[in-house]
Amino acid sequence: MYEMRAEAAADRGELIWHVITKGTSASPLCGVPLELSTASAPQLEGAVERYCSSCMDAFSAALKSS
Ligand SMILES: [Zn+2]
Repeated sequence: MYEMRAEAAADRGELIWHVITKGTSASPLCGVPLELSTASAPQLEGAVERYCSSCMDAFSAALKSS
């Protein structure tokens, strides 16, 4: 199972969604260590939301191989 976690890149005004294997705390598929708040997604006023392309690649590869 997978879930999405948002990482706030406040300096760029972006909210980046990573894919995380359920059960791990902060280990996205792209391997970038995240500083995640354990609660809900961070709120960033007027943030542009986008998906982490590395996570998306790894996610689709994982789906195909399962
Ligand atoms: Zn990622």
